[in-house]
Amino acid sequence: MKKEVLGVNFDDLTREEAAQAGAALLAEDKFHYVVTPNPEFILAAEKDREFLQVLNGADLALADGIGVVYSAKIQGTPLKGRVTGIAFAEDMLSCLNERGGRLYLLGAKPGVAEEAGRRILERYPSITLCGAQDGYFKDEEAVLLKVAAARPDLLFVCLGAPKQEKWMARWGKHTGARLAIGLGGALDVFAGKVERAPESWQKLGLEWAYRLKKEPQRAGRMAKLPLVLVKAAGRRVKKS
Ligand code: UDP
Repeated sequence: MKKEVLGVNFDDLTREEAAQAGAALLAEDKFHYVVTPNPEFILAAEKDREFLQVLNGADLALADGIGVVYSAKIQGTPLKGRVTGIAFAEDMLSCLNERGGRLYLLGAKPGVAEEAGRRILERYPSITLCGAQDGYFKDEEAVLLKVAAARPDLLFVCLGAPKQEKWMARWGKHTGARLAIGLGGALDVFAGKVERAPESWQKLGLEWAYRLKKEPQRAGRMAKLPLVLVKAAGRRVKKS
């Protein structure tokens, strides 16, 4: 069942349930796409109708970030919890590894997708890395042809939002992939360029604080987190 948080529909799933749903999509012989919205997405979608439609047209929308979970709670429609894009991506890699499937990595700066691929294969040796392409291309159609020629089952699209979601909605079905996931900076993490918060911080829902500590230049972007909470509170008050 979908739950709407400030206009964006989310699947109310635990990490395990999301992994099961993702595995079912990966088993089906047709294209699906998954989005992982955080508070920044919600605010951007308020001003960008196409982005909102693309988010709400996804086969799975996972609450990537504690800000979405808090907003849902404040709004009076709580979600079971957070399912980060990275966690879901890991679960799908594991599923692909069991099937011996094909993976394509699209996005990030030149060289990053290749390095991410090398590291992923070390951990999931039964996967075939069928292609890797950086995210700074001009010709969208040329990239589509390249992806389609590689015949992936699973496709990570890491171009930042809303570019990656719009790319998946527009071109995804022509790639021949069964599952595409919009994953923001995930390739930088898989390539070891960006460090994830230690588990103790993650467990406390403080990954955002760790990221801010490491990358203080993100403060402007992160100021959006309290803004969605205030909007969610406004909604709750209106409803009561
Ligand atoms: N990126 C890209 N093409 C672009 C713009 C961004 O491939 O035209 C990549 C960028 O290099 C980074 C990712 O998209 O790897 C977006 O990272 P960001 O930190 O914005 O995403 P988040 O993890 O916060 O969603």
